[in-house]
Order: sequence, then C-alpha cells, then structure tokens
Amino acid sequence: MKMISIEEARGLVLDKLPPRQAEHVHFQAALHRVLAEDLRASMDIPPFNRAAVDGYALRSADVRSAPAVLVLAGEVRAGGEASVALVPGQAIAVATGAPVPAGADAVQMLEQVQIAAEGRRVTVLQSVEPGQNIVPRGFEATLGETVLESGRTLGPAEIAVLATFGYTHAPVWRRPRVALLATGDELVEVEGTPRAGQIRNSNAYSLTAQLNCLGIEPEYLGIALDDPEDLRCKVVAGLEREVLIISGGASIGPYDLVKGIFEEIGVKILFARVAVRPGKPTVFGCKGDTLVFGLPGNPVSSLVSFENFVRPALGRMCGFARPDLERVEGELQTTIRQVPGRTAFMPAVLSWTRGGWTVDPLLWKGSGDIIGFSRSDSLVVFPSDRDSLVRGERVEALLLPDYFTRRR
Ligand code: AMP
Ligand code: MG
Repeated sequence: MKMISIEEARGLVLDKLPPRQAEHVHFQAALHRVLAEDLRASMDIPPFNRAAVDGYALRSADVRSAPAVLVLAGEVRAGGEASVALVPGQAIAVATGAPVPAGADAVQMLEQVQIAAEGRRVTVLQSVEPGQNIVPRGFEATLGETVLESGRTLGPAEIAVLATFGYTHAPVWRRPRVALLATGDELVEVEGTPRAGQIRNSNAYSLTAQLNCLGIEPEYLGIALDDPEDLRCKVVAGLEREVLIISGGASIGPYDLVKGIFEEIGVKILFARVAVRPGKPTVFGCKGDTLVFGLPGNPVSSLVSFENFVRPALGRMCGFARPDLERVEGELQTTIRQVPGRTAFMPAVLSWTRGGWTVDPLLWKGSGDIIGFSRSDSLVVFPSDRDSLVRGERVEALLLPDYFTRRR
C-alpha cells in the first residue's frame, strides 16, 4: 500500500466520521461535554430589579443636592419581597441581591450614608445617578434568549448558567464507545514482572490517558498475542464498539498481524503507511460504522500517532469545536535535522518570554524512548521537505493536550 502524506491520511479519517448523536446528562456530569442544542433563558435574569450593593434604595432626585436627610421607611433583605413602594423623601435599606422597591430609582451604598441616632432618619452624603447600583430586571438575560449556544464546551461558568436557569439536564453530544487492545508476545501487564525478553505494556495506559483527556473512558480488552487466533478473536470483540484502537503489530514484520487480520475479517483499509515520523506504520480502516486504528507499538509512536490521527477523529465525534492540538509559533533554540520525506514531530519544551514563545527541542533517544519524551510539553512540526530547522528560525509547535496542567 502506498505511503500517503499526513494531510491526506487525516482527510481519509475525517471523511469516515459517523453522524453525531445527542444525549441528556445531569448538569453536574456535564463538565467538558459539548452542548448539542441552543439553550434559552427560562426566565429574566435578574428576575427583579436587583440591588448591586448593600445600601439604601431612594429617589435620585431627593439627594441631588446632598447631603440630604431621608426618612428610613423599612428594609428589604436578599430573598425578601419589596412589598411597599417608596414615596418621595424616603429611603429603604436594601442588601446586595435584594429586590429594589418600586418608586426607588437608585441605591446609595452604605458607606455614603449615616443613620441618625434615633434610627428613623438617614443622611445621604453623596448624590447618585438614576439607575446607579441597580441591575434592572432582564439586564443579563431576558426570557427566551439564547444563553448557551450549541457547540459550546461546558466549563464551570456554563454549568453555573445551567444551574441559573434550572436545567438539571443538558443535551450534549454522545461520546463514542471505544475499545482498546494491546498486542505483542513480549508484553506483560503492569503488576507482572517481565521475564527474559519481556517488557511491561505501557501503551494501553498512555492511550487510556489520552482518551481520558478527551473525556472518553475506553473499554480495555487486554493484550492479544502475536497469534492470529487470539488477535482475531479480540479484534472481533472490539468491532462491537464504535472505535477500536490497537497498539502494536501494525508494521510489516512477520509477526505484525494487525493489517492482515483486519483484511481477513472485512475491515476496509484506507491507509497503512503515512509519511510521518514517528508513526509511519499507522493503519486506519473501517467496518460498517466502526473506525479501526492500528497504531505502531513503539511508545512514543503510539502516543504521537494518537494525537495525529485518533484525536482529530474522536475529538470531532465528541463535538469539540477545536479538537486538534493548539499550534503556536516560536523561536527554535537549537538546530535539528532529519532525513527529508516525512513530516516529523519532535518533542520540545516551550517557554513564554517577552518576545513570544521559544521552542527547545528535547534530547531524546528515538521513538522507543517514552522516558525522555515524557519531559516534553509540545511537538515541533518538522516539514517533510526540510532537512534541517535552524536555531533562531520561527517554527511551528503543537501543545500536547495536557500542556496547561503539566507546565512547570
Ligand atoms: P511493534 O509495533 O509491535 O512492532 O512494536 C514496536 C516496539 O514497541 C517493540 O519494541 C515493542 O516491544 C514495543 N511495544 C509494542 N507494544 C507495546 C506496548 N503495549 N507497550 C510498550 N511497548 C510496546
Ligand atoms: Mg509487536
């Protein structure tokens, strides 16, 4: 199968995305979910003319030539009702968040008012503008207006908006159900002790964490041996889901069985070799509506291939407006080289300086070296037609998905 460019490969993946479906989730479980419909205000907010400060509701005309003495005619607390209207010459004490009584057109803050000793009169020291310190009914939202647009990712503020309007449940895009499989005779699970020739399975766990970053909890199917029977059986189980991700066995060696098994069970292969470094032996296909990714087994390749091919697909399936890794441009701190012909992604550390971003390529030991790679927070994009990127040059870098939580 011919080697294609990363852009072409991504295009083939995005072409195969199934239509999205919505579901309703409890608003407290909606963090980082993507809204599937516009939501409208179920009431005016504020629902009444709201005092913005602790102070005295009054008529601005009565205190135009402050200081002015007014008759204290009562109090409205937050949660209280402003049952009596204010008449000229009166002031009514109000708390922040309390409804302002009818007849008042401003609130003067506590600090600008003195209470007379007998407590029945107040002296207002400063004049106020009409409307001052009052948030009028419907100022923030009016009944029926759209307050949350479809496509918005729900963060803490959006969850407050849901709460404000009494949306106990929110319509969000359903996240795809993902099966995850590792393959390789040499793999033992994390709790085990590798014998001669064995290593621990780490890819299943980096991939799980990458899926978790998108809010997806995969179904882990374990380790398949480099054995056609075992692999076929587990792949068939994985095809029950909407997406199957396999790590390992995707290359062309005699024990790389993934592509062959895919073909045998009727997966349509759309590509199997991409001009990308790391991640050349990345397989993508589909069977019915199920998308199937065969990622290379080297730990860094698996991780970078996920970001390059799986994230764009799953991020869109989850409804994220900008699912791809964020790009920045920065000044390269050391010269790096490659054999041209493939788009390379090299681990780097970004720093923000007064002149913008700087990009420090990381010393690492190749696509098997997850330990070195783990010190990076970004990937330098090395165009396929270049053999070197030179110190001082402006280069493009991608922020790894957990960039903002892993910054030191
Ligand atoms: P493969 O893609 O199966 O040819 O594997 C390439 C390299 O990645 C080999 O050195 C494997 O031992 C290693 N490898 C494969 N799968 C995993 C895994 N799940 N965790 C860690 N290393 C792996
Ligand atoms: Mg293998």
